Amino acid sequence: MTKVHNYSAGPCILPQEVLKQASEAVINFNNLNLSILEISHRSKDFIEVMDNAIALVKELLNVPSGYSVLFLQGGASLGFYISAINVMKKDGKGAYLDTGVWSAKAIKEAKRLGSVEVIASSKDKNYNSIPKSFEVPGDADYLHYTSNNTIYGTQFKTVPQSSIPLICDMSSDIFSKEIDVSKYDMIYAGAQKNMGPAGTTLYIVKDELLGKTGRDIPSMLDLQVHIEKESMFNTPPVYPIYVSMLNLQWLKKNGGVKWIEGINNQKAELLYAEIDRNPLFKGIVEKEDRSNMNVTFVLTDESKSEAFDAAWKAANISGIKGHRSAGGYRASMYNALPLESVQALVDVMQAFEKTNG
Ligand SMILES: *Cc1c(COP(=O)(O)O)cnc(C)c1O
Repeated sequence: MTKVHNYSAGPCILPQEVLKQASEAVINFNNLNLSILEISHRSKDFIEVMDNAIALVKELLNVPSGYSVLFLQGGASLGFYISAINVMKKDGKGAYLDTGVWSAKAIKEAKRLGSVEVIASSKDKNYNSIPKSFEVPGDADYLHYTSNNTIYGTQFKTVPQSSIPLICDMSSDIFSKEIDVSKYDMIYAGAQKNMGPAGTTLYIVKDELLGKTGRDIPSMLDLQVHIEKESMFNTPPVYPIYVSMLNLQWLKKNGGVKWIEGINNQKAELLYAEIDRNPLFKGIVEKEDRSNMNVTFVLTDESKSEAFDAAWKAANISGIKGHRSAGGYRASMYNALPLESVQALVDVMQAFEKTNG
């Protein structure tokens, strides 16, 4: 098989050994001579998978006591609404930082439930930076932000100061670097950016945050229901949870979040250094807000795009075309993307400079 350098923005690249284990379990899971796809989610073998996955999340992120870990469905896109309906009081208000397309979608869903205050936005700058000065209203029920702007390529380098409960959509940088979970009241993340395949959504929620809205919450959206049923209120997405568990095992075995953070920093430094050095390219976001996960850049001369596209395709690079709303290029460097793949892209950029500079 030819090695493809997979820069997909999501669903993301997964480690080869995880894919191999995952494929074997489709045929014969745990030597049961049954597929993981055809056994009960209440069987001992699957309950062990769920327990393992939850334990790995707690261990890898140092989740303190008093928090619950859930694997639910609906993607982060349902998380926008779930996070709001579980925390915004009946006549209450949510505060939001608007740093990109996903933040804006979270705001849109919260508005269905009540009052929303957008306390800062970088929309007028085409989301090329992270707002630094904002005041968090003390009378809001929570502050919501998106830690990594997957589409435009910006990332919060510090956790926003907040005196009210803090909720974070961490879909595209969870498990990429060490975090202090105790600073958050709720974290949610669609699996398919940096944790596993599409189909499950991780929630890490402080138990005491819940049950205070005075709302009648539909069971499937009620985090207290899911906590009580240990993510088994209905049939959970068994396979995405299983593959996420394998991927978290891979992360743990290799040295955990601290280990991958070091590699992610190396990857980002390598590619940003080339973007800044090479006169044929330039970055599109403020340097201090650059994302380590999604690196966005453009050609300084758009007319060279056909030649550049041919060059990276010839080097077996896949998935660096920018998002349709941002244009240019986006190199997504999630955990499983090796440093050598970044070197392959940098080599292409350097060779391109020689032939087209
Ligand atoms: C991809 C993404 C989403 C949407 O996730 P789905 O699982 O497709 O609903 C939300 N937020 C962020 C930051 C994302 O990157």
